[in-house]
Amino acid sequence: MSSRPAAAAAPASTPAAADSALQPGAQWHNGFAGLPPVFYTRLQPTPMPALAMHARNDALAQQMGLRPEWLRGSEATEVLGGNALLPGMDALASVYSGHQFGHWAGQLGDGRAILLGEIRSPAAPQGLELQLKGAGKTPYSRMGDGRAVLRSSIREYLCSEAMHGLGVPTTRALSLVTSPQPIYRETVETAAVVARVAPSFVRFGHFEHFAARDDQDSLRKLADYVVVRYMQDVAQHASGSAERYAAFLAEVAERTARMIARWQAHGFCHGVMNTDNMSILGLTIDYGPFQFLDHYDANHICNHSDTGGRYAFARQPQVAYWNLFCLGQALLPLIGDEATTLAALERYKTALEPAMQRALGAKLGLDPARSTAPETVAGVVNPLLAMMQQHRTDYSLFWRALSQAVADDSLPALVHWFDGDAAFETWREQYQALLQPGDAAATAARMFAANPRYVLRNHLGQQAITAAQQGDWAPFARLQTVLATPYAEHPGCEDLAALPPDWAQHIEISCSS
Ligand code: AMP
Ligand code: MG
Repeated sequence: MSSRPAAAAAPASTPAAADSALQPGAQWHNGFAGLPPVFYTRLQPTPMPALAMHARNDALAQQMGLRPEWLRGSEATEVLGGNALLPGMDALASVYSGHQFGHWAGQLGDGRAILLGEIRSPAAPQGLELQLKGAGKTPYSRMGDGRAVLRSSIREYLCSEAMHGLGVPTTRALSLVTSPQPIYRETVETAAVVARVAPSFVRFGHFEHFAARDDQDSLRKLADYVVVRYMQDVAQHASGSAERYAAFLAEVAERTARMIARWQAHGFCHGVMNTDNMSILGLTIDYGPFQFLDHYDANHICNHSDTGGRYAFARQPQVAYWNLFCLGQALLPLIGDEATTLAALERYKTALEPAMQRALGAKLGLDPARSTAPETVAGVVNPLLAMMQQHRTDYSLFWRALSQAVADDSLPALVHWFDGDAAFETWREQYQALLQPGDAAATAARMFAANPRYVLRNHLGQQAITAAQQGDWAPFARLQTVLATPYAEHPGCEDLAALPPDWAQHIEISCSS
């Protein structure tokens, strides 16, 4: 093996040796680890016994410059479970702070995430970072054990890939490795490590950290790092200029708006939208007590620990703004004045509305080439959501049924989704007036590409977890396959697109993971 025990520290920035893990032309790159030490602590993952890999993502491996054959070998299990490092890796945990549930929480940091390094390859010339979640304690673990349990790791793996399949910006999952090492939560659980992949794992909280310490030099270095690496247009403005950091904030606001619009359109509740769980690149990150809505409920709270409903489904767009406001405050010393900062934050509002229009217009099958007034789209969507709320209509299934009914020219029959409510007929007429006559096939095709047949409902994740806990990974693998292409029909998988069973209502997911 070219790897060695994690206990033997990898010297920083080892040049990539001829390496069995990497594709030709791929190499480890000194990205985040090239920043000054104030941003992180170099460290090793803590080994665990008897690692076993249960999920691997060949397509992602290919895309990030890893050889899929390597991913199938024993060395990958050791590396991606945290027992070994490859030459060229430069493992570290980064420091960040943040606001949790509306309150300043002070220093947090990668308490159980360890960045192994970044790979640049012909397939991903901009570079992709590889991070292990659950690979042991770091200086930022506080009271935690640095570990993640099997159930939450299965949920993170499946959901990040489900979001990718839906076309929602997200961190990705490369592998899931388990160990029989006991992990103590409310009960004794199994340890697991998910290898996550993203261009960067920098969060709003990274900026808040240095702002809170009044360390403007580090604040600027970090902003410059993100701008130069990931935001070419913003990088046109000179380092140190107020324009650069205002444009940076506006860019983050815009990316966040695009992400939030997709969440809302797909009925996705994140559950823990703390500023330390907000990606600076506008990626969905840190899958904890998330949930895709079953029946539509604007006030749905998916996180059992969120007693006040701060992160209820319909509040997510406002919370994202609140979080961006915190980021704006952190960047204020670089931007210079409040008015410019507020103006940059306005980008969130100006970007959110059209992003929502696009996402909802696509769900309705509207032709993107013909402009439809925003109030017209809202005028159709809002009464539909009100009916769904009133009749507890299944959110994803209804949209798919609507797509099918457009294809079959059978819209009136959908009234059964609303218990025969006469309001549906009024709505149907209004909706139908919006569609182009004689364009049903094209409209339906747009709708089938915007309204997924399969979403990762809580009970589906739970079934995969229960089976995996008993050693049966088949339900997990089945979900993995189906959720990779959720808009397609998967014959024989109709059960994964059915109404949730009654017990699904009683699943309680909290922050404990
Ligand atoms: P989360 O609510 O999962 O986003 O986590 C908030 C903070 O707690 C982050 O700094 C995490 O790294 C840390 N954390 C969560 N669980 C653990 C754990 N089991 N061990 C160490 N740190 C943890
Ligand atoms: Mg987090």
